[in-house]
Amino acid sequence: MSHKVLVIEDEADIARSIAYSFKKEGWDTRTVNDGLTALDEVRLWRPDLIILDLILPRMDGFEVCRRVRKEHAVPIIILSARTAEIDRVVGLELGADDYVVKPFSTRELLARARAILRRSSLNDEANQTTRIDFGDLIIDKQMRLVTLKGKPVDLRLKEYEILCLLAEYPGRAFTREMIFERVWGDAFLSDSRTLDVHVRWLREKLEQDPSNPEMILTMRGVGYKLVPPGGSAGNSSAGSESQTDEAEQ
Ligand code: CA
Repeated sequence: MSHKVLVIEDEADIARSIAYSFKKEGWDTRTVNDGLTALDEVRLWRPDLIILDLILPRMDGFEVCRRVRKEHAVPIIILSARTAEIDRVVGLELGADDYVVKPFSTRELLARARAILRRSSLNDEANQTTRIDFGDLIIDKQMRLVTLKGKPVDLRLKEYEILCLLAEYPGRAFTREMIFERVWGDAFLSDSRTLDVHVRWLREKLEQDPSNPEMILTMRGVGYKLVPPGGSAGNSSAGSESQTDEAEQ
């Protein structure tokens, strides 16, 4: 069964060349040229991958991304002429899996698409091993649900994947390269700030004091590791429930 890619792009030349190169690789390809039609197409056709331009008629790509992500875990690669980092971060925050800046080569786009799909199928296999229980922190992979002290934690896709990866071998340091390879699927995304941003978000959701993490630790010059709550790092210094009123800067 061939994979299905939905190309959401209003510039006909670009849409055509993307569709052409994916078709040539055996993908089942559809193209739509506005945001609203795209939403319908996602619901009805259920693509395995979405290539999404940001500037679109009727509904822009950010909004499309946000809405799709509410309903589906389908991987999304954003296309954009914008290079500002704010867009990149916002795109990832909305749940995009990758980000390609125009002009790009269709070869690069294909490589990223393959990497993302390879990863998501690896994840499906990994998801068979269902549950990681650290007491306060429980990761239920079958339900794709993370709970902290019994309360569900709302995680973005990448945050969840980073957490699952680190949790596979608690206490072991994962290099940035390993995390990129496993979570983003390739080395193209060498922008290391992306990883830091996601780790920061994770800490904001999981740590009692995100600026003084006890669970997701930075290994300087290496990467990150997870220390399960109540693990060797201990939590004796953090007595009270919420000490979130500290200065943010
Ligand atoms: Ca456009």
